Amino acid sequence: MTRMWCVPPEILCDDHLRGEHAEHHQLVGTILNHPYGEAIAAGHAEKGNIDTSRLEERHDELAEEMERRGFNHESPLEYDGPAFGIGAIDVDHNRSDLLNRCDECEDRAAKRY
Ligand SMILES: [Zn+2]
Ligand SMILES: [Zn+2]
Repeated sequence: MTRMWCVPPEILCDDHLRGEHAEHHQLVGTILNHPYGEAIAAGHAEKGNIDTSRLEERHDELAEEMERRGFNHESPLEYDGPAFGIGAIDVDHNRSDLLNRCDECEDRAAKRY
């Protein structure tokens, strides 16, 4: 499921960090190349899962954290397509949802915040 968590990247476990990062690239590919890409993006935006106005900035935060952890990152991301989900992401809700689902993210969050 495509989802921009938008929580501080430090609290993401390696899997969630790499996963959220990959979803940014997938989402851009879907919107620009998939025949129903815009409808798919509108569906994610309705659920509060994406905000295309934050795509580039959020991608860069995730990429920076990946590099800090020693993962390869050679995939710049640019997006100037149509807007979906502006202001739709509820970070506090995402944070508690993520920490409920993932023990490793929960441990990281407990240590750092
Ligand atoms: Zn990237
Ligand atoms: Zn996690």
